[in-house]
Amino acid sequence: MPMGRTHRLINTYLCVPLVVGATVAAHWSPLQALSCGVGYCFATFFMNPDLDLDSVGYQSWGPLRIIWWPYQKILAHRSYFSHFPVISTVLRIVYLMWFPVLMIALLGSSVQMVARETIFDWWPIIGAYLLMFILGMIVSDTLHAILDVVSTDFKRHFSRHSPHHQSFWEHHGERRKSRARPSPKHRRR
Ligand SMILES: [Zn+2]
Repeated sequence: MPMGRTHRLINTYLCVPLVVGATVAAHWSPLQALSCGVGYCFATFFMNPDLDLDSVGYQSWGPLRIIWWPYQKILAHRSYFSHFPVISTVLRIVYLMWFPVLMIALLGSSVQMVARETIFDWWPIIGAYLLMFILGMIVSDTLHAILDVVSTDFKRHFSRHSPHHQSFWEHHGERRKSRARPSPKHRRR
């Protein structure tokens, strides 16, 4: 698995070509392209599949990372629910809803009514852009999953062909570093 910063770097490099390519191919408006790009960046830097462990994405939430603590405890790292394309993105969005829903529920009926009216008033205006935002998140998360699979195969390949069946990464010091870390679940990526 690549480190969290590698994921960020590769996703960032691919952001502009992907969004511009899709905009040209699908004839998106500038606002649709912007919504998709912002969603893509949000998933890359904050809401990515590696929220299932103490990753750089998890740390990026600052004090609000407490929201993701139960998520991290419930899901095993790289489980289908946290890494499978599309499904994992939708599950993270649904999961994130528990925090505002709880807040609104605690704040009483007048706040609940305002929230309901706001959603009904704004959905026709921003609904389409919100879907583009989610599409951007899905593309970013899919790239993450592909990179995880490719890097794992790459490591396996080197592991089979390197002396003493040691992987390329172990040979270059990763093994020594990982020994100092207590468990893969708590390793920051
Ligand atoms: Zn991952």
